[in-house]
Amino acid sequence: MKKGKLVVYTGYSGVGKGTIMKELLKRGDIRLSVSCTTRAPREGEIDGVNYYFVSKEKFEQMIAEDSFLEYAQYCDNYYGTPEEPINRMLDQGYNVFLEIEVQGGMQVMKKRPDCLSIFIIPPSFEELERRLRGRNTEDEETIQKRLCAVEEEKKYIDKYAHTVLNDDVSRAVEEIVSILEDNNE
Ligand code: 5GP
Repeated sequence: MKKGKLVVYTGYSGVGKGTIMKELLKRGDIRLSVSCTTRAPREGEIDGVNYYFVSKEKFEQMIAEDSFLEYAQYCDNYYGTPEEPINRMLDQGYNVFLEIEVQGGMQVMKKRPDCLSIFIIPPSFEELERRLRGRNTEDEETIQKRLCAVEEEKKYIDKYAHTVLNDDVSRAVEEIVSILEDNNE
């Protein structure tokens, strides 16, 4: 069976990556990697579905055991991609999306140079701040940290092979689907 594509999928906090991803998952040939994190679950998030929510000790043990394809610290928490499930899904022919921030993205591009990389950008930064505040899931301190992270993440956009503007969810989904098709050699 033909192996699937590994896709580094990055975008600023609040840009709408999750909404686009939900639509992409309806296609059937795409799987989303479930990351481990030390951050607390948000309202409605389910362990094993949105993330594996683990303690700092457990996360550090997994680092020591070399369980991660990549991991990074973002706004005071660890986030990482367990490697084994990724390889299994790719072997089964699925296109596997890693919804990760830039530090992790850089690690994956280095380790798996054949991966695809997509960065989702907002129509404007005012719009981004409005969306981040509008979802009401973070306190002011966390929002400020996430807005600072945006400044840092901007520096990495040109390392990504594709940037997709999220001006309209279905349009962005179509663009990502055509990127996948173009790279389906
Ligand atoms: P959130 O706390 O909003 O769920 O995620 C914060 C940031 O961490 C987002 O940019 C998200 O894409 C990123 N992230 C989620 N999982 C991982 C992961 O496994 N590795 C890395 N490097 N970043 C991740």
